[in-house]
Amino acid sequence: MILRGRQLGEADRIFTLFTLERGKLDAVAKGVRRSRSHFAGRLEFVNECDFMMHRGRSLEVIVSAELLTAAWTQLVEPERYAVASVVAELIDAFCEPELALPEIYELLTGAIAAVAAAPKPRELLPRFSLRLLEMLGLAPPLENCVRCGRPLPAGVAWLDAEAGGLADSGCKERWRDLPELHDRDVENLRALARPKRERAAVRATPAAAAAIDELVAHHLGKRPKATAHLGALGA
Ligand SMILES: [Zn+2]
Repeated sequence: MILRGRQLGEADRIFTLFTLERGKLDAVAKGVRRSRSHFAGRLEFVNECDFMMHRGRSLEVIVSAELLTAAWTQLVEPERYAVASVVAELIDAFCEPELALPEIYELLTGAIAAVAAAPKPRELLPRFSLRLLEMLGLAPPLENCVRCGRPLPAGVAWLDAEAGGLADSGCKERWRDLPELHDRDVENLRALARPKRERAAVRATPAAAAAIDELVAHHLGKRPKATAHLGALGA
């Protein structure tokens, strides 16, 4: 799947791909910017292709690309495009090159297909983000306080993004100004984190969605750039 592309010289483009067999990798397509390139229309954002490549001196060189799925026509809708951009940016930012992550490949292709068909695509982002953190081993512990390890009591917990999880009232006293999460938000986070078919939740409460944004920003060390475009589209 094509995560992004950038120009190289007069006629070539470098693409960052996320592949089933090798995870993330960069590959160059030669002559792609000429009007008669045989790649025309295939090497587009989040298109899924069967690539044939050979190893060049420094980069893989794309020899051929057979189109498998193209969400392009459905992604011209601005909110869908913005959400797909966040999805691609997070995969690109969190995944190391040349590390096969088949579970994340499935998450990515499933997310793009869902976004392409969704009437309210931004609702899909919290679960996607939390599942991604989970698969990367970065998911917040949702049963215990991230600071002291005690089981979280029913009622209320506090988001402690700096520690990568939730804090109980005792630890919250020492780390002030943490956003509060009610029972339903904590329960919602647990349900969002579950794999499909295990009573998973699809939609996040506003507090749970905000908590996931904070955790992503904490692990990424910044906010995803594409989130700003999504924000500019309004609620
Ligand atoms: Zn604690």
